[in-house]
Amino acid sequence: MSTEFGRSTVLGYPRIGAKRELKKAVEAYWAGTIDAAALERTAARLRAEVWRSLHHARLGSVPSNTFSYYDQVLDTAVAVGAIPARFAALGLTELDTYFAMARGVDAEPALELTKWFDTNYHYLVPEISPETVFTANPEKPLREYAEASALGITTRPVLVGPATFLLLAKGAKGEDPFARLDDLVETYAGILTALAEAGVAWVQLDEPAYVADRTPEEIDALHRAYTRLGEVEHRPRIFVATYFGELGDALPALVDTPVEAIGLDLVAGPGNLDRLAGAGPLAGKTIVAGLVDGHNIWRTDLRAALAVAATVAGLAGSVAVSSSCSLLHVPVDLALEIDLDPELRERLAFARQKVDEVELLGRAVSDGTAHLPAPLPAAPASWRHELVRERLRGPQHRARGAYAERARAQQERLGLPELPTTTIGSFPQTAELRQARAAVRNGTLDGAGYLERMRAEVQHVIRLQEEIGLDVLVHGEPERNDMVQYFGEQLDGFAATEFGWVQSYGSRCVRPPIIYGDVSRRGAMTVEWSSFAQSLTSKPVKGMLTGPVTILAWSFVRTDQPLADTADQVALALRDECRDLEAAGITVIQVDEPALRETLPLRRADQKAYLEWAVGAFRLATSGVADSTQIHTHLCYSEFGEVITAIDALDADVTSIEASRSKMEVLDDLAAIGYGRGVGPGVWDIHSPRVPSHGEVVAALRRAVGAVPARRLWVNPDCGLKTRGYAEVEASLRHLVAAAAEVRAS
Ligand code: GLN
Ligand code: ZN
Repeated sequence: MSTEFGRSTVLGYPRIGAKRELKKAVEAYWAGTIDAAALERTAARLRAEVWRSLHHARLGSVPSNTFSYYDQVLDTAVAVGAIPARFAALGLTELDTYFAMARGVDAEPALELTKWFDTNYHYLVPEISPETVFTANPEKPLREYAEASALGITTRPVLVGPATFLLLAKGAKGEDPFARLDDLVETYAGILTALAEAGVAWVQLDEPAYVADRTPEEIDALHRAYTRLGEVEHRPRIFVATYFGELGDALPALVDTPVEAIGLDLVAGPGNLDRLAGAGPLAGKTIVAGLVDGHNIWRTDLRAALAVAATVAGLAGSVAVSSSCSLLHVPVDLALEIDLDPELRERLAFARQKVDEVELLGRAVSDGTAHLPAPLPAAPASWRHELVRERLRGPQHRARGAYAERARAQQERLGLPELPTTTIGSFPQTAELRQARAAVRNGTLDGAGYLERMRAEVQHVIRLQEEIGLDVLVHGEPERNDMVQYFGEQLDGFAATEFGWVQSYGSRCVRPPIIYGDVSRRGAMTVEWSSFAQSLTSKPVKGMLTGPVTILAWSFVRTDQPLADTADQVALALRDECRDLEAAGITVIQVDEPALRETLPLRRADQKAYLEWAVGAFRLATSGVADSTQIHTHLCYSEFGEVITAIDALDADVTSIEASRSKMEVLDDLAAIGYGRGVGPGVWDIHSPRVPSHGEVVAALRRAVGAVPARRLWVNPDCGLKTRGYAEVEASLRHLVAAAAEVRAS
């Protein structure tokens, strides 16, 4: 058996299938239309396809156990026996226990779902309690290894490493899961032995948590963990993969352990290269150089990458080339995108194409026989938009008048009661709406017919809100299935793909648009919808836009200019849209920024610069309106942490925010930094199908009134209602309006 790592690899691969076959199979299983055996057959076929394609591409090392029915962190929890008792007690099959943890069942809510580092992928947060008994359960990686072996393909099983696993976990009763590291490492030792007994030569343990700021104790613990795993007598060779940034002090710590290979992200963390030079003796180690961007869809400049690989080769015992992170974060195959503009297409690489890049580069590094293509010429001139560039030259206007003055002008114009009630924007996306969109796609419904259906929906939503008695209405966003996609379709500089699906969580996939050129607005994007809705009521209807940071966060963004510049281009388009809405008689405009925190850089040292341009772009988008036009923003999380002062700096007149699960603590946080404008803490957790009772909403409001003066307090749900059904929405909104009236009266 070869002990070489191999000259090329990828850290992981999309598992959902080029046409989302896994999504469809898993959802069919949930719906009860196929059984577990049928689901497993589809899964096995998808796994085999991936291995075969990586093998045929002649990758030096092929990963396995990168398949997952839902999430790789959940898989790791199962592999170490960290199944919370409340799920084990359900008495379900293994597969159904797994799905119960992922999705919850009537009796038990699911594990918490949260963002995977700075990506748009969500993982399930492992729950570790003092009662958790870690036990090695390597059945899945073993089974997949054997499955690939049966196809004649030797693979490298991939698991989340023990330190990252615990750093991502939460203590069931507030205890620190990381304190269990030594204990968990012994379980990993057992897994390693089992893998070695099955003939596994290399294992990949992912430790991305170490590209964020870590304490010296956490770095010591990493060193201790891998020193111990290195000492396991009968084990595969260990490859510790890191990605999404720079390892910093964790790099020399890892180098000082017996692990045979270390993976570094040289795309998101170019500084890793310098750090490597002084990191300690590397003679016996393989450095797996992440040179092909696994987080974006642009082709690699292979000649530049080769130069970096050569530098790494000069430092390390040997070098292998890899993707910078798992290819999970990019779509599967560019070959399916036959409608893309050829000039754009030739600049792109999806997962399948990135595998070829990695292989070519690996060959070039190891024996110099590969011929590397020349880098692409500069972007076509038609992708430039001189007018936008001209507008962005020189200082930008990012400030509104004093808040006191604005508040007065808005109150005079809107005449809202105390504790005004509103919603976050979307109303339920019903089966009829989805059918109408499908009918347009397959040609059975024309544009006029579609418009008519959407208008009927807007009419229905407005009537319903009037009847329930909300104060600031919305049009309900029936015309948007995905808000970023919606704006991307209407802006120049954006391209949409047909099959560019990326897993967001579980069976959920998104199709992020590609921002390839200068962004400009062809014409008004939302005005017709908003003014139609406004024409149906005398109450104010909120205009509804998605903010520049969120549009960037949920797109694949060009890398040939700073993100800040692209954000400002988007902001200018939104600024014009705000003005047009205002001119059409819209008095309240909401600019959503649910992604403001998710793109926060992982290292504190980089956060200030990010927040500066992020806040700047929002203010550029929203500061072109009159004092009397009320600007709202909406953020989808309650733990502000580092971003709380940035939220204040957005200078929105009203900020609506998730709060029902955090019991209104966010209000104290806001008060502590002196936030003095309108705030709408969500009083209804729309992520749950539960209808909050009248009493619950009253109680939440009373707590809120204790923390914020009533004249600044808004009453609204946590987030948009598009995933809910009308029955719950109606009942909940009625409770909300009645509760507001009751608290107002007292
Ligand atoms: N206005 C959007 C909606 O209601 C906000 C979506 C979000 O917060 N993610 O759907
Ligand atoms: Zn939200």
